[in-house]
Amino acid sequence: MGSLRLENIRKSFGKVEVLKGIDLEVKDGEFVIFVGPSGCGKSTLLRVIAGLEDATSGNVLIDGEAVDHVPPAKRGIAMVFQSYALYPHLNVRDNMGLGLKQAGRPKAEIGERVAVASKMLGLDKYLDRRPAELSGGQRQRVAIGRAIVRSPKLFLFDEPLSNLDAALRVNTRLEIAKLHRELSATMIYVTHDQVEAMTLADRIAILNEGRIEQVGTPMELYNRPANLFVAGFIGSPK
Ligand code: ADP
Ligand code: MG
Repeated sequence: MGSLRLENIRKSFGKVEVLKGIDLEVKDGEFVIFVGPSGCGKSTLLRVIAGLEDATSGNVLIDGEAVDHVPPAKRGIAMVFQSYALYPHLNVRDNMGLGLKQAGRPKAEIGERVAVASKMLGLDKYLDRRPAELSGGQRQRVAIGRAIVRSPKLFLFDEPLSNLDAALRVNTRLEIAKLHRELSATMIYVTHDQVEAMTLADRIAILNEGRIEQVGTPMELYNRPANLFVAGFIGSPK
């Protein structure tokens, strides 16, 4: 399971309100993309969902249960950032398995999970390498692998492709789409790239200045944009 419900999420930093009442329901297994201009609150919203930031008001529910008092490590969420945040002194195997090791899981289970995930991502030949010996795309796949091994209820991606060059970006995008199909996992993905949003999402939520302007399938947004902002962002003809 891995459904998510956001109820009137507000978040202020000092006097500045960055999230101004976000309501959204994400079904188990859905791929939802938050898209919107820089500074509109996308990363803050992901951090609130992950529990890395407390909302000023509102509720986050995972599988129907409010998680306000559940610490990040216990939410069943794995987050993948644009900077890969790998440990330089650990090889691929240990970077991928570290979270499980810290959670006290048995060595054999960690080895098995890392083997499955690294095969899925085409990293099985690189398990003994350190991050410095990998390309940017491979490093990002290690970061994705580190999320997969934990079998999270919810994957959160924050602009995972923005540090990659154009060709790698397409490759990694296709890989993420494949993972979504294979794992039937719930994924929430932030980008400011319309192409990524249109090609990956089951539904897209368009954010602007801390509010959701419209939520719908890529075709719904393209064919029936609610306003000029959405039309401009999605590139529909009106
Ligand atoms: P996005 O990811 O859409 O680019 P962010 O969620 O990172 O936007 O930021 C939204 C707004 O909140 C920005 O104006 C940013 O400067 C502000 N902000 C984000 N985090 C903090 C923080 N820890 N303290 C103060 N302001 C912040
Ligand atoms: Mg951001």
